[in-house]
Amino acid sequence: MRLGIFGGTFDPIHWGHLILAETCREELGLDEVWFMPAALNPHKQGRSISSAKDRLEMVRFAIAGNPHFRVSNLEIKRQGPSYTVDTLRTIREGRLDEDFFLMIGQDSVADFPRWKEPDEILRLATLAVVNRGRERPDLDAFAKQLGEEALDRVVEVEMPAIDISATDIRRRAQEGRSLRYRMPRSVELYLLQNQLYTSENPAEDSEG
Ligand code: ATP
Repeated sequence: MRLGIFGGTFDPIHWGHLILAETCREELGLDEVWFMPAALNPHKQGRSISSAKDRLEMVRFAIAGNPHFRVSNLEIKRQGPSYTVDTLRTIREGRLDEDFFLMIGQDSVADFPRWKEPDEILRLATLAVVNRGRERPDLDAFAKQLGEEALDRVVEVEMPAIDISATDIRRRAQEGRSLRYRMPRSVELYLLQNQLYTSENPAEDSEG
């Protein structure tokens, strides 16, 4: 069993996330990709985040019908800041013979050595670094900080550049602009029906 873990805020999930996940599934021959919405992304504490219930629901809609994709509420259930190393430790319990891949965007590589226990993360999982379009990660700096052998735990995956971000979607929703073709229609309808990101109902800090 080869399992990919894909963490994010997913506020909301969009085509960029789904194409990233599907590209990794295909390129790395993954049996499953687990979408792991963060309870409270430690890197995003500066802004309010939609409730865990809404973010989980949007991921459920987005992946419906794909037998390889799952959503996990592990980080949301744990509450508090979500540290990847804790998540991996929990998931690996009882699954020692499985291959784990932690999927991260190329833009997160520079930051990775400052995550909690990066060496332990690399022991628990292979880092699947996803390059968008022509972007390339700075693996020299990565190796300098974590040691050359850390590179043995890194694989690179290429995907096309998809210039969609959750920030832009939230802004568009707030301004009443079109959201079409940026995410699955079911996600779009969910966020519209529940008035997420509109000024009358700003994203809440509570994790619901
Ligand atoms: P925000 O705009 O709120 O920062 P986001 O759209 O970047 O959100 P996140 O939930 O923060 O979404 O992203 C989770 C992961 O998905 C990150 O590793 C990020 O690099 C990746 N990602 C986000 N948008 C894209 C995209 N358009 N193409 C490929 N990967 C993406």
